Amino acid sequence: MEKIQTKCLIIGSGPAGYTAAIYASRANLEPIVIEGLQPGGQLTTTTEIENFPGYPNGITGPEMMEELRSQASRLGADIRTGVVTEVDFSVYPLIAKTDSGQVYSAQSVIIATGATAKYLGLDDEKKYAGMGVSACATCDGFFYRKKVVAVVGGGDTACEEASYLSNLASKVYLIVRKDYLRASKAMQQRVFDNPKIEILFNTNTVGLFGDNGVEGAHLVKFKGTDQEESLDISIDGFFLAIGHKPNTDVFKQFIDLDEQGYIKTVGVTTATNVPGVFAAGDVADPIYRQAITSAGMGAKAAIDAEKFVISHK
Ligand code: NDP
Repeated sequence: MEKIQTKCLIIGSGPAGYTAAIYASRANLEPIVIEGLQPGGQLTTTTEIENFPGYPNGITGPEMMEELRSQASRLGADIRTGVVTEVDFSVYPLIAKTDSGQVYSAQSVIIATGATAKYLGLDDEKKYAGMGVSACATCDGFFYRKKVVAVVGGGDTACEEASYLSNLASKVYLIVRKDYLRASKAMQQRVFDNPKIEILFNTNTVGLFGDNGVEGAHLVKFKGTDQEESLDISIDGFFLAIGHKPNTDVFKQFIDLDEQGYIKTVGVTTATNVPGVFAAGDVADPIYRQAITSAGMGAKAAIDAEKFVISHK
């Protein structure tokens, strides 16, 4: 297969990747976007987005990503399915290889591979994968209409997912390991005010049970203290909402990462430690992780890439 030359290779297709593609296209970088495992990124598994400017009545995640994709495509971005499985950033032009064996030789690379949902690490999560265990309420909530579900986590995602599921399920347990929620005050209030949501504070999940899919969870309250107490709850669905891991494994041989695996960028720019490689969105942002901040970083990355390509002609 012949190597494909490009001025700008964008890896990932969330708000950061598509916005980078929009800017890079308008800067005549003729970008190629490799969409990755989840075209459109995490937002394709979100319900209503109310906080992205320009949508006064809100918009669903999949709809917004489709709009960003078509905007990038209309401006000339070459959007391709595929997953980057290997890179070589020790050479220039930079090299990236996809799962189909296609090799790209790029004058600049923008990494916008996002982050992936974390699991607790219980064997039962694997055992019941697709049989009651999910990390995406919007994808799988439909299956739990009038049933009982549990959501693990105390952040904004967990509260949002619990609220969403409460519109479908008959009851939602919110399993929180600390004695408080980490979510924003508004989100907390929404959960506290919802009669269908029961919050189990100071509670850890240690296992799941059921003969035909998940039928319940083994929980421990006040784990590791003298008040420790075991209890089981009957549930039909178990949803994880305990944060995300940045998708940086493919790049870690070349790119400097922080202790959590997020890409380190230089100052206020999107530059990484490798000249010509830039990073945008959740993959490089352990703090804000919003669609709008990711999109902003995508724009910055394309501007940084344009300057780099021009100065390395
Ligand atoms: P967070 O990191 O904010 O929260 C993760 C939650 O999961 C915490 O309550 C944490 O507990 C808990 N947790 C982590 N590991 C475990 C474990 N092993 N067992 C049990 N519980 C665990 O992640 P989110 O995904 O909720 O949010 C990420 C970012 O995205 C945040 O900045 C958030 O504000 C933002 N966000 C914004 C939204 C919006 O504005 N509409 C919607 C969703 C997310 P502990 O507190 O004990 O560490």
